[in-house]
This record gives sequence, structure tokens and C-alpha cells, in this order.
Amino acid sequence: MAGPGPVSGPAMADTIYALSSAPGRAGVAVVRLSGPGAGPALKALAGKLPPPRQAARALLKDGAADIIDDALVLWFPGPASFTGEDVTEFHIHGGRAVLAALFAALRARPGLRLAEPGEFSRRAFAHGKLDLTQAEAIADLIDAETEAQRRQGLAQMQGELGRLYEAWRQDLLRALAHLEADIDFPEEDLPEGVTAAVAPQMRALQAAIGAHLADNRRGERLRDGIGVVILGAPNVGKSSLLNALARREAAIVSDIAGTTRDIVEVHLDLGGYPVVLADTAGLRETADRIESEGVRRALARAESADLKLLVIDAASWPALPPATVALLDDDTLLIANKTDAAPLPEGASYQGRPVLPLSVATGAGLDELLKSLSAEIAARYGRQHGQGGNATLTRARHREALEHCHASLARFLANDGDAELAAEDLRLAARALGRITGSVGVEDILDIVFRDFCIGK
Ligand code: GDP
Repeated sequence: MAGPGPVSGPAMADTIYALSSAPGRAGVAVVRLSGPGAGPALKALAGKLPPPRQAARALLKDGAADIIDDALVLWFPGPASFTGEDVTEFHIHGGRAVLAALFAALRARPGLRLAEPGEFSRRAFAHGKLDLTQAEAIADLIDAETEAQRRQGLAQMQGELGRLYEAWRQDLLRALAHLEADIDFPEEDLPEGVTAAVAPQMRALQAAIGAHLADNRRGERLRDGIGVVILGAPNVGKSSLLNALARREAAIVSDIAGTTRDIVEVHLDLGGYPVVLADTAGLRETADRIESEGVRRALARAESADLKLLVIDAASWPALPPATVALLDDDTLLIANKTDAAPLPEGASYQGRPVLPLSVATGAGLDELLKSLSAEIAARYGRQHGQGGNATLTRARHREALEHCHASLARFLANDGDAELAAEDLRLAARALGRITGSVGVEDILDIVFRDFCIGK
């Protein structure tokens, strides 16, 4: 959908090859080739080229030597291929020795070399097969661990985000053309005050971009994980709660990311949303230097968290520790633990907020807590909250460029009569959007964009 990107990066005349499936033993391994040598290599190894885009069985042979493997091969002549170049796929048996033998045969052919990380996607971008947001989405989709991440990656890969930005950029370019016509041919009697004529449209565009930016960082959260932190006085059962949630089937633990001294994190899949759940040091006044450092970190974590689980001991109800009360806000769930030892009055609430009764020891209230937490997350990061259609920006890179675009539009709208400056601001606004999709000079950011990719993508 984007125009062809700049041809750049590692030499494009080479034919590249790589293992595109995961390394290690497997039923099938996929080796992909792209470039002018992909066809000749397939012909040499399989004996002939199969019909385009149809799977064919072939005995792969390296010259007169032994058969390398009994394989499935696919031939995608360019430009109707993933990269836009001639592409070959070998589906071989996924064993180390089979792969080594095929690689040895490929390595021996002139003009063929191993692909660099992300090089297939980078070539697809260079040949206009993908815009940059779609290339980024491939990486996201491959890294997706939860349902919400998969949906987001897929939508972006289908071009949802790129289309939105491209449409906005076209609006800007049209307004710019009007303005430039006015500057270049003032005598041609164009409608008076072209700047004024495009202003309402540009104001609407600025508002749309503003709304898109005010998305609660939903897309970025879905990519990186929603930060939920457990806070409360010492001994109220914070660690027990973390362990209970981590072991609960409704919350699938994907991995223990490590213990940052005093902050323990687990990664959960909560109803399809990726959650990074953190346990923190108990909040209390202390003279102990190490403990007070723990408290400082707990408070810092509370500050940056998307949602807070504030835990109190049900026995202390209705008195709440001041350090706990201080953290109460709209992103807080208030939880009274140990209700097995001290039951909480029915319908207890604090400052209009419901208090969730819980006993980690018996498990009572745990499912309700998970349900409340999932509902809070869905309300904040669910799909219905995307602005500008449903597309959501997913990276700081997008956000930065959109902020530039928004600021340029603000300058344009504040301009009172300098047509040259007004045009320049529209140009800058359009350029900022173009850098997101890669439709304008992005040479300098390509290495950064493709850096996260692994070999074979
Ligand atoms: P933290 O300091 O807030 O992380 O609290 P811990 O999770 O270490 O728990 C402190 C103590 O409270 C431990 O002895 C736990 O066994 C106990 N505890 C935790 N949850 C419950 C509960 O639901 N009921 C009872 N009776 N004890 C609990």
C-alpha cells in the first residue's frame, strides 16, 4: 500500500537465505531464499522449477552427490512474493544435519549469503510490499503471547494503522497543494485566503490526531504488558496474593521475569491481556536503610503502574493505614485480605469505593478479584477504546511522530498570514506522518526499526 521505500541497507543484489522456522529439532523446517538466485538455486537442487505458488515434492540433490532430503518446495516468482523478489521455500525435515547439508549446498552457490536479521521484511518494505507499520507488526505478531496482542499485531499487519496515517497524510498534502498554488500564482485569482480555506479541515485533522494520541497508551500497553502492582503494609498478604494469582488457572503465568531486589514480577495472561504483576516491599515508616529503599521503589512502581491492587488486613477494618490511603485513586482496587480470620462487613466500601473481600488462605474471593481486575483492564485497554477507527499506535516511535505532526498543525493554525511559514508547517506535519509508514525518507530509522527482528523474518 505504501509507495516503494528507499532501496537501502545490506546489498540488495545478493540472494539471501535463512532458516525461517525456529531453530532446533522439529518435524519440518522452512528455509527461505529471496533474490535473483532463488530460482536457479531451486532448479539446481530440485531438478526443475515447480509451477508458481504450488507445493511440489522434490528430492533435493547437491550436484551428483547424495540426496539431501525428500522435501516440499515452493516457488514464488517476483513480484508476487513476500519480498517482491523471486522467493523459494524449502520445507525440509527439521533436523540439524539435514539443515546443515542444505545450507552447505546453498553456501556453495555464488551470490548467495545468509540473511541478516529482519532482512526479508526489509526487502519487502524496500519493494513497497509493506509499509513500516506493517513490518513492525510482523515482529509484534511473532512475539504475541496473548489474544489481545495477537489481534493488535494482526490488525496492524493488515495495514489498519498505515491506512489511517496515509489518509491523514493525503489530507495534509492536498491542503499543502492549495497553499502552494496560492504562493506560486497569487495573480491567478484563487479563492481568497487559501490558508483560511483549509484551516477548518486542518483543525479537524488536528483534533483527530489529538484524540488518537489520547488513547491511554492502549496499543503500547498491549505490546509491553499492562503494569499491575500489589501494594500495602507489611504482612497483609501481598506475596501470598501474587503467588495465588500466578498459580490461578484464570491467570496464565508465562514466565517469571526475575526479582529486581525487592520487586518480584510475574507475567500473566489475564483474559487475553498481557499483564506484568509486581509485588512490592511493605509500606511503612522505617529507619532501616535497605527497607526504606524498598519502600521508595514500591512507591515509584505505584506511580508508574497502570493499575494498583491496594491490600489491607481485614482485621484492621475500617481503619486503613495512612500510607495505603495515600495511594488510593481511580486506578486502584481496594482489597481486604485474611477474611477467614476477620470477616469483612457485607458491602464494605471506602470513600465510595467497594472493598473486595479476600482470603488468599482459603481462596475465597480470588475469582471475584480476578473478574474485577479483568473488567478494569478491559475497560481501559479493550478494543472499543481505540480512536480514529479502531487502529491504535503501538510504539513510542509512532507517538513521537504524531506529536510532531500535532505540534506542526498547531503552529499552522496559529499562523496569521505568513503563507510560506504555513506551507512549511504543513510540510513538516505531512513528513512526520510519512516517517511512521516509511513513505518519505526514513533511511536513518530503518536500522532501528528492523533491529528487533530475528534472522529469517
Ligand atoms: P506480605 O508481607 O504482604 O507480602 O505478606 P505475606 O504474603 O508474606 O503474608 C504474611 C503472612 O500472612 C503469612 O504468614 C501468610 O501465611 C499470612 N496470610 C496471607 N494471606 C492470608 C489469609 O488470607 N489468611 C490468613 N489467615 N493468613 C494469611
